Amino acid sequence: MNTIPSDLVRLLRLVKCVAVLTGAGVSQESGLPTFREAQTGLWAQYRPEDLATPEAFERNPQLVWEWYATRRLKAGEVKPNAGHYALAAMEKRVPEFTLITQNVDGLHQRAGSRNVIELHGNITRVRCSRCEARFEEWEQPESGVPPCPRCGSKLRPDVVWFGEMLPPRELNRAMAAAKSCQVFFSIGTSAVVEPAASLPHLARLAGARLVEVNLNETPLTPYVDYFLQGKSGEVLPALVKQVWGEEESAA
Ligand code: NAD
Ligand code: ZN
Repeated sequence: MNTIPSDLVRLLRLVKCVAVLTGAGVSQESGLPTFREAQTGLWAQYRPEDLATPEAFERNPQLVWEWYATRRLKAGEVKPNAGHYALAAMEKRVPEFTLITQNVDGLHQRAGSRNVIELHGNITRVRCSRCEARFEEWEQPESGVPPCPRCGSKLRPDVVWFGEMLPPRELNRAMAAAKSCQVFFSIGTSAVVEPAASLPHLARLAGARLVEVNLNETPLTPYVDYFLQGKSGEVLPALVKQVWGEEESAA
């Protein structure tokens, strides 16, 4: 049983503006591995950091394309977990609520979250590696990377790879949400990948209280007001229940 500190419960009952940052840890209980866990099967021989880069795509587009095809399939097969649903429930209770995610799996939206900022894109979409056109559907040739229907260049997943810029509009909206919130949650993220890792500090410097939910301590932990150690799929439903008196469970 997760007990939430009573002063945090009181604070959340009164709060008007909340921002939340999530990372791969939130989807771990749905069965999607984080990048820090060992890969399995065919992909065990590769490190994600060597696949999720523009250089990897240049070197071996088919390999990177197939890795994303596997992850896309898996993301479509799994279901949101109790942590995703608890965040969707929190959004209904807090007047201004922004969910900033580094995840590309779309599980927050599937759980009912509405105001979601996807900092790292979404694995269900692709975009052209040259003309930037985006597509939600495309024709997959028997093998290889499909060409862009507009210009013939290679399509790529519409995600942000290591070493790439974040989409400026999303990053600006995330920074504005961090600066204006009263409480900022950092959940299931190792809090080291920039610029997302700076968001809690922006919030803190603007006067927000910081809450961290993680299995383990992170570089952010020394700065937070509340460290709730545990699985997000257990801690978040307990928090929603204690603050707003309702139990959220997977639909
Ligand atoms: P990360 O940096 O977000 O680290 C994962 C964190 O989650 C770790 O601190 C770990 O202690 C914590 N964690 C693990 N299971 C947890 C749980 N059940 N409850 C609470 N905390 C838990 O993620 P990463 O794997 O290092 O990935 C780096 C980049 O790749 C990020 O952009 C990430 O979002 C992306 N990525 C996305 C997905 C996805 O969309 N599902 C999956 C893998 C990686
Ligand atoms: Zn194109």
